[in-house]
Amino acid sequence: MDFEPWWLIFVPVLFALGWLAARFDVRQMLRETRSLPDSYFRGLNFLLNEEPDRAIDAFVEVAKLDPETTELHFALGSLFRRRGEMERAIRVHQSLLNRSDLPAAEREHAQHELAQDFLKAGMLDRAESGFEQLKDTRYALPALRSLIRIYESEHDWPRAIEAVKTLQGLVDEPVPQIVHYYCEQAQSALAAKPADVDAAHKALDAADHALSTMDAGSTKGAHVRTAMLRARLALIEQDPKRERLYLESVMTDVPEYAGLVAEQVLANYRAANQEAAGLDLLQKQYARHASLDLFNVLFRELRVQQGAAPSWAFARNALRSHPSLLGLDRLLEAELANSEGNADQGPVPGADLTLLRSLIHKHTQRLDRYACRSCGFQARRFYWQCPGCNAWETYAPRRLEELE
Ligand SMILES: [Zn+2]
Repeated sequence: MDFEPWWLIFVPVLFALGWLAARFDVRQMLRETRSLPDSYFRGLNFLLNEEPDRAIDAFVEVAKLDPETTELHFALGSLFRRRGEMERAIRVHQSLLNRSDLPAAEREHAQHELAQDFLKAGMLDRAESGFEQLKDTRYALPALRSLIRIYESEHDWPRAIEAVKTLQGLVDEPVPQIVHYYCEQAQSALAAKPADVDAAHKALDAADHALSTMDAGSTKGAHVRTAMLRARLALIEQDPKRERLYLESVMTDVPEYAGLVAEQVLANYRAANQEAAGLDLLQKQYARHASLDLFNVLFRELRVQQGAAPSWAFARNALRSHPSLLGLDRLLEAELANSEGNADQGPVPGADLTLLRSLIHKHTQRLDRYACRSCGFQARRFYWQCPGCNAWETYAPRRLEELE
């Protein structure tokens, strides 16, 4: 495109427009600036200089001078909560709620904030009643999600289940942990003295129904847990055949969890005087899907049923194909226990097993744990719900050593 000289006429016009716009902005800013108290700028200055404590004090000052500014109160309140200063957060939100002129929408907002303060402060009763009051407001959904967390931490499974159902009536949102809520119910029914088998059946039926509506790939752990509880229920009802079916279903359907049921499988076979068959089954399982937990059970049982030599042969082979310090540790532990009476008859004559084991054991203590995938919390026993972050099914059925 060629340059046309008459276009130059636009230059002064654009210039004038820019000048006017700038003047307008500056005037507007000056007008607003005059209405803001000095503390506001002091606060900003502290923020820019990365002195958050002094910035907060300055903003608190602004809030006192100008109690009408609800936004500032909300901002301060959530800032206090994020910093863990719960008393101050609660005070800010309560003072907002005490104002009689607060519009309804902002009142609900303040109620929601206050309930969150109580939750973070661990005042569950007050948090619970705060969230319950928000049922018919625009905060109904987040309030319901918080209520589920509260009921869960109180182990109030019936109400947790009810709340999940209400939530799912409002939005299409998967809540896979509902299966675990039913499992928790079944577990406490089974733990009661005497066991409440009817309640356990009912809870497990509900768990299976919930499982059937979910994607199979994402509910492996829940599936295993339900099967394990069904097996325990069958044992209580003196139906060992049914117990065996459920235990073996875990080994075939979700083999990575076999270590969790291996002991029960052996106990079931032993009760039927078929311990050799039980051992054989576990050996085949190990060949298909090796894991440390399975190794431990097998190694010990081989020793009991067949003696030291076969259990050593198994361990040597297993360690050769899956080198593992933990496995070696178990092996040495068993060997030491065995050779205490007859020191010269160990399989490695002359080796200082005690020294070797203490060297290895130091390292393996660290590795002999399950770990939460979400928060890293480590535990000696397996958990369906992490005691660190309360997430469900974040533990893999494998020891740390196998995960590295
Ligand atoms: Zn965790």
